[in-house]
Amino acid sequence: MKIAKLIAIISISFIVMACGNKTTTNSTQAAPQQTYEWKLVTSWPKNFPGLGRAPETFAEYVERMSAGRLKIKVYGAGQVVPGFEVFDAVSNGTAQMGHAGSYYWKGKASASQIFTAIPFGMNAQEFNGWLHYGGGMELWRELYAPFNLIPFAGGNTGVQMAGWFKKEINSIDDLKGLKMRIPGLGGEVLKKVGGIPVALTGGELFTSLQSGAIDATEWVGPYNDLAFGLHKAADYYYYSGWHEPGAALEFTVNKQAYEALPEDLQAIIEVATRAVNQDMLDEYTAANNNAMQALKDTHGVDMRPLPDDVIKALRDATVEVMKEQSDADATFAKVYRSYLDFQNNVSQYHQISEQEYYKNRSNE
Ligand code: CA
Repeated sequence: MKIAKLIAIISISFIVMACGNKTTTNSTQAAPQQTYEWKLVTSWPKNFPGLGRAPETFAEYVERMSAGRLKIKVYGAGQVVPGFEVFDAVSNGTAQMGHAGSYYWKGKASASQIFTAIPFGMNAQEFNGWLHYGGGMELWRELYAPFNLIPFAGGNTGVQMAGWFKKEINSIDDLKGLKMRIPGLGGEVLKKVGGIPVALTGGELFTSLQSGAIDATEWVGPYNDLAFGLHKAADYYYYSGWHEPGAALEFTVNKQAYEALPEDLQAIIEVATRAVNQDMLDEYTAANNNAMQALKDTHGVDMRPLPDDVIKALRDATVEVMKEQSDADATFAKVYRSYLDFQNNVSQYHQISEQEYYKNRSNE
């Protein structure tokens, strides 16, 4: 549903409520409207910067816009369910909502990975265009329907960093046998070039890297990585985030809980998710650069680009992985075709707009 229509629904509802109050002033008091109290479970530590703040902001928006008729309490990973059980908890109604990364659910539906990020795929701006105006959201709703879930966009980190490595990466051979925390399709690509992808939630990263249980980890970018202190556990910080060029987060809503709400509260949920989706990107845009300066200047972190031939090998491996995933799962193939068509189209304009502008703006 388009934003303008949603705002119209909310406005009409307020007008109806206001008129209703006026006409009942001298007669019987209007019956109090039903209020709802929901649980929202997340895959993040409570109040974690960026990722963890988004659901809190969402809950605040909803409570204010609904004048307290819909109260949503946010839980960090492990408070109600572990971070990797958010999908099931919302599906079975343990919680009415969740906030997580869709690629954590690749074991449920392989195509879920596409709704977080594709290596060398679209950035945040392009992904949001596909999702809301290019058919992406319709495909996502179709994918989650059998699980009793309705997905909504839940924020975007922008282009991430390639990650923290305990040793230098000078050639593709340095990735062979490398144990790295890297989820989703990026992990499949690492496996293709001889690395060993490991799945860990954010809260497990620092100790795993420090103890040597893993050799490398990606997480998000300077803002979140500094908060975890990852610079104390590895010497080299590589860019760019080839594997997550605009990692999207998701809100999920239990279908019965959503359908039990009046239409104006449903619209408030949809508008609040759209607001938070943009708000997260704004927060990362503002905070990443400050954190990068602190990592470089205060902590002396060695930041480097991945060598060109490593990037090329990863890009070639990505083509193979995407073909294998498409061959293995018809739904994955269908969603990826839609994604790739949009990317191929939007990139033609972005070559002469965004890319050309960045080049022109540069002082070099
Ligand atoms: Ca990441």
